[in-house]
Amino acid sequence: MITLGAHVSTAGGFEKALTHLSNIGGNVLQIFSASPRGWNFAKTDPIQSSHFKEAKTKLHVDHVYFHASYLINLADGEKTGHMSKLSLIAELKAASALGVRGSIVHLGSFKSGRDVINHVSTNPKYITLIKNIKEILDQTPEDTYFIAENAGNKKIGQSLDELASIIRDVNNPRLKICLDTCHLFSAGYDLREENKLSAFLAEFDKKIGLEKLEVWHLNDSRDSFASGRDRHENIGEGTIGLDEFRFILNHPKLKHLPFIIETPGFDGNGPDKKNLDILKSFV
Ligand SMILES: [Zn+2]
Repeated sequence: MITLGAHVSTAGGFEKALTHLSNIGGNVLQIFSASPRGWNFAKTDPIQSSHFKEAKTKLHVDHVYFHASYLINLADGEKTGHMSKLSLIAELKAASALGVRGSIVHLGSFKSGRDVINHVSTNPKYITLIKNIKEILDQTPEDTYFIAENAGNKKIGQSLDELASIIRDVNNPRLKICLDTCHLFSAGYDLREENKLSAFLAEFDKKIGLEKLEVWHLNDSRDSFASGRDRHENIGEGTIGLDEFRFILNHPKLKHLPFIIETPGFDGNGPDKKNLDILKSFV
């Protein structure tokens, strides 16, 4: 069976999010651990955690992920970087308590023009980034993953080379990758033909290792190819087209992975059953 689900609101609590996910036909959940628009740290208590785990089992939701705050910038050497680190430490501790696999993180920005750093090892912001990720991993439970998401805008993680460099320098099996179709498209990776997808996966395997690929975000894009913008669209309503989603969902090297939508929703209320049903129809 396909592992497919959605980012869902936690209004009303984490358990409510599980129920909502199940109602739209999903079996993998992504949620914020706390409000993503401020420095609000994740908190759990033992009763809440055991209820959440029970509900998860009952609804057959094996995979749950947190999506980290949008404020995070791990390449910042000052207050923002420090708060980013503390917030992710709190989040991964909560993840362990709740049986959540890990946190999917937009790493931040080098704030240097196009923001891609090539052969980076002497750049102070890059050194800060690596140090912060290592410290987070050192201070959090072993049963959680730190999952870096690729970027489609001009932020850290636009290219496989950049992600490969971060993976190599952090050198920790708990650091994984999340690929977002909208962001790949914005960053200039064209996966709209089966042979192009296979070539991309071969490049990923060579540079990073396919075992590092933990999860996909399946989103269509509102912008043109290689636009450097990363606005999500409903599946089939954007510029990517349906074929890419069909190829990804059925690819022998990918089909066992979890897939999560973060689409605006056909009624504008966020990821919905219709988006999931379109994707299910391809499998
Ligand atoms: Zn995403």
